[in-house]
Amino acid sequence: MKRFIPQRVFFEPDALKYPLGIKLQEKFTEMSIPIEFTTSHNRVTGIKGNTPREKYIQAKQSLVVGIRRTLKFAACKPSAHYQLPLATSCPGLCEYCYLQTTLGPKPIVRVYVNLDEILNQTLKYIQERAPDITKFEGSATSDPVAVEYLTGSLKKTIEFFAQQELGRFRFVTKFSDVDALLNVNHNEHTEIRFSLNTDTIINQYEKATASMKARLAAAGKIAKNGYPLGFLIAPIIIYDGWEKDYEMLITQLAAVLPKNINPSFELITHRFTARAKSNIQNIHPDSTLPMNEKERQFKYGQFGYGKYVYPKDSMAKIKSFFYQRLKVHFPESKIAYLV
Ligand code: SF4
Repeated sequence: MKRFIPQRVFFEPDALKYPLGIKLQEKFTEMSIPIEFTTSHNRVTGIKGNTPREKYIQAKQSLVVGIRRTLKFAACKPSAHYQLPLATSCPGLCEYCYLQTTLGPKPIVRVYVNLDEILNQTLKYIQERAPDITKFEGSATSDPVAVEYLTGSLKKTIEFFAQQELGRFRFVTKFSDVDALLNVNHNEHTEIRFSLNTDTIINQYEKATASMKARLAAAGKIAKNGYPLGFLIAPIIIYDGWEKDYEMLITQLAAVLPKNINPSFELITHRFTARAKSNIQNIHPDSTLPMNEKERQFKYGQFGYGKYVYPKDSMAKIKSFFYQRLKVHFPESKIAYLV
């Protein structure tokens, strides 16, 4: 896939007090990308568009280089203890993006130049919980791989965690540009997870992300580099030919991974809330995502709002299919959960 090349970049003036800010300004100037200045990375004006979709896409093609001022990390249960904010938003256009409801109608991609301050804060959180291990999630607010070729922040964070006896890092990605993370001293303290789906689903609903083939190739490289590895198969969607396609995904995954590794699997079936459906229809008015409430079962979630999940018989089919097929190809692997 092509790398993310922003159409326009906004700098917070203070970002140029940091070496990464200067490096990025030089890079974007060389690339002839228009640069503007903004007083705050949270209040960018100048994103044009006549419809919600146009504004959304324009925002996703824009980048802000700023300073992460809030150094209070949000909790991140159950995946980790804290979120680690290396970036916000991502250039992907997944119709079911989990950030759609939290980042508002103009989710401009933001990167932060004060990584040293972010990592110092990380260290404080680790020390506070000692002698227990503290886990940090790097993809709660973005897909950090998409902007790694610009910032190099993931690599530095992985190296930072390699030195932390009591700190662990994990993130998940739908991108494949991982070469900069190879041959890095990770000390097995960073777990890299890939979010996978069939080509049919990726081509239809995950525009501007890496193809299935590219993600599998990237996973193979990460596995050979000895990182702890995991896969999210999500969202699992039932459509004509779904079993054949998911079977192919699992078979091809097994073929690219070394035989001696046992990745973990997280399986998430497609679900939606009323709010998510209305957001999706607003931003992607032609979406063909299956969101007919009549074909779903309504279920109250742990945060109090209801969601529409597959009915029991479909869930049973999905469960039986994935448990059987993963057992064949990854007999020693753990399925962390299926929801
Ligand atoms: S890759 Fe992840 S963060 Fe980016 S749009 Fe898709 S779901 Fe959202």
